[in-house]
Amino acid sequence: MVNEVDVVVVGAGLAGLMCAATLQRRGLEVRLLEAGDTVGGRVRTEVVDGHLCDVGFQLLNPAYPAVKKFVDVDALKLGAFQAGVRIRRGTESAVLADPRRAPQLLPSTLGSGLLDLREIAALTKWVGPVLVTPDRVMAGADQPLGTALDVAGIHGRLRREVLEPFLAGVLADEPGSASSIFARLLLRSFLLGTPGLPEDGMRALPAQLAAHLLQPAETGVRVVGVDPGPSVRTASGTVHARAVVVATDAVDAAGLGLVPAHPMGGLTTWWFSAPAGMPHDRLLLVDGDRGPVVNTAVVSAAAPSYAPAGRDLVEVTTLSAAGLTDDAARAEAGRLWQTDTREWDLLVRHDVTHALPLTRAPLDRRRPVDLGDGLFVCGDHRDTPSLQGALVSGRRTANAVLRRLAGSTGSGDA
Ligand SMILES: Cc1cc2nc3c(=O)[nH]c(=O)nc-3n(C[C@H](O)[C@H](O)[C@H](O)COP(=O)(O)OP(=O)(O)OC[C@H]3O[C@@H](n4cnc5c(N)ncnc54)[C@H](O)[C@@H]3O)c2cc1C
Repeated sequence: MVNEVDVVVVGAGLAGLMCAATLQRRGLEVRLLEAGDTVGGRVRTEVVDGHLCDVGFQLLNPAYPAVKKFVDVDALKLGAFQAGVRIRRGTESAVLADPRRAPQLLPSTLGSGLLDLREIAALTKWVGPVLVTPDRVMAGADQPLGTALDVAGIHGRLRREVLEPFLAGVLADEPGSASSIFARLLLRSFLLGTPGLPEDGMRALPAQLAAHLLQPAETGVRVVGVDPGPSVRTASGTVHARAVVVATDAVDAAGLGLVPAHPMGGLTTWWFSAPAGMPHDRLLLVDGDRGPVVNTAVVSAAAPSYAPAGRDLVEVTTLSAAGLTDDAARAEAGRLWQTDTREWDLLVRHDVTHALPLTRAPLDRRRPVDLGDGLFVCGDHRDTPSLQGALVSGRRTANAVLRRLAGSTGSGDA
């Protein structure tokens, strides 16, 4: 049997792009096969009536170590949100912001009514170590977030009205059962970095990685089977290689028979075009009354390129399980922004049922990637469910392939 190439990488999301580019730079011939019509996987942007609508609202946090290391953040021209959130309660709203990065919001933060000294002290004690010694926190015992917060004595309004609704959107899950270590790592990244959106939409991130490829991705090529040997089957035939890396999401990797099924959380985002004049405080809005919306934001306030002149672009996101109709989402948006939404146009609704691998305790941050027989697997489900996890996974798997092709023997690390 003849190896047609050194490596086939299946899937051109962030992990596959990172993996393929790393291997190509090391002189290997790599074919990157992507089923979709473009690269990026879960990081894509649709242009609708002149608005940039990311396929599911997401944010790029420049504090992610892998983003710092592998991404030219300046070239993306991020429009930043403020380091804080607005919390809706009934007809009132309050602001909670980081006084170091948003000192102008200190008076609103102090007047928010959310600052119970005992809860702040407990929260600081719980989050503090992950800022100073993250490795120790990661090496420690994990437990469900709900239990961890109970044990830490955090059970006031900061937890109920801010932390839990905010984390539900980031985890694509009811936060109580999530890994408390992962939740703390997320809070660390939000405390250290101020997330934003690229001027050309989130698609600019994979586009930048794709520009590093020496051999471009082949789009519109679905791999229907992966066999030890190894080889991949597509509609146009079989490709043999020295190594095959499956860089799909967890569901597709399970479908190809490489890994056991891993549960994923879903998110639904509605993109509304509103007449200009929405609040431009660049704060994410969360629902302190714990309705179905996990976050909503005027994204064009942070990234003006997301909307044409005279319009504001508003995202409204729920867990998929909430099952909201378009009318109900519009009504929720009206309540949360305390505004009349009849003039708003629904541009598009994105139902991303497989948005994020669920991260339950105990957190397993480094799942095996070398399955033996020349087969490898990478993606956010091998590391952590995030842009950071996907980038790290792509690099980690590329290194495992290089080690294996350099001649070490064995049957993988699975
Ligand atoms: C709505 C939403 C919001 C998010 N918010 C954030 C956020 O704010 N911050 C953050 O850090 N992360 C966020 N994430 C998570 C982040 O986007 C993902 O963790 C990351 O993009 C996963 O990249 P990946 O390369 O592992 O997988 P994917 O992006 O899923 O890439 C897999 C690729 O494989 C291709 N593929 C699948 N099967 C085949 C096949 N058989 N043959 C060929 N190709 C195939 C797919 O088409 C896809 O392009 C969010 C995700 C979503 C969906």
